[in-house]
Amino acid sequence: MNPCPCGYAGDSSGKCRCTPDQIRRYQEKLSGPLLDRIDLFVTVAALPAETLLKLDNAKAETSAQVSSRVSAALQVQYRRQSCRNSILTAQSLDAICQLTDQNRQLLATAATRFGLSARACHRVMKVARTIADLSGNEKVESENLMEALGFRDGLVNQPSAFS
Ligand SMILES: [Zn+2]
Repeated sequence: MNPCPCGYAGDSSGKCRCTPDQIRRYQEKLSGPLLDRIDLFVTVAALPAETLLKLDNAKAETSAQVSSRVSAALQVQYRRQSCRNSILTAQSLDAICQLTDQNRQLLATAATRFGLSARACHRVMKVARTIADLSGNEKVESENLMEALGFRDGLVNQPSAFS
């Protein structure tokens, strides 16, 4: 989804002329309960064509490398809980994420600050568990939780999140 009707809100080009009110109305087309069901929000800045052409593919992970990392993470999940992280119940999430008190506090603070629902918090925990699995971490580290919270910043960065 675009950040605003013209698609340029937040872009460094300054092309966006949408009013805060237009942006809010545009974003409200997606209801809260629907947004709650989305796992990852990623803000992607528009790149000029010349930059895209110059991107160094040699440094990027190949699809085969990513695929084997994902397979390994899935194996870890099946071994630990006999299912994928994405279908964990709220009850089993606590036992499987085993957040430290500090991380629990971090999540609670973020939830209050950004108005995350309980459902959204559970999504963040599942994403954090998955990031930890992809990184080969046995426990969910605070950096995994921070990264998972970062995937909700599509919402957090929207002007309407603070109005
Ligand atoms: Zn705009």
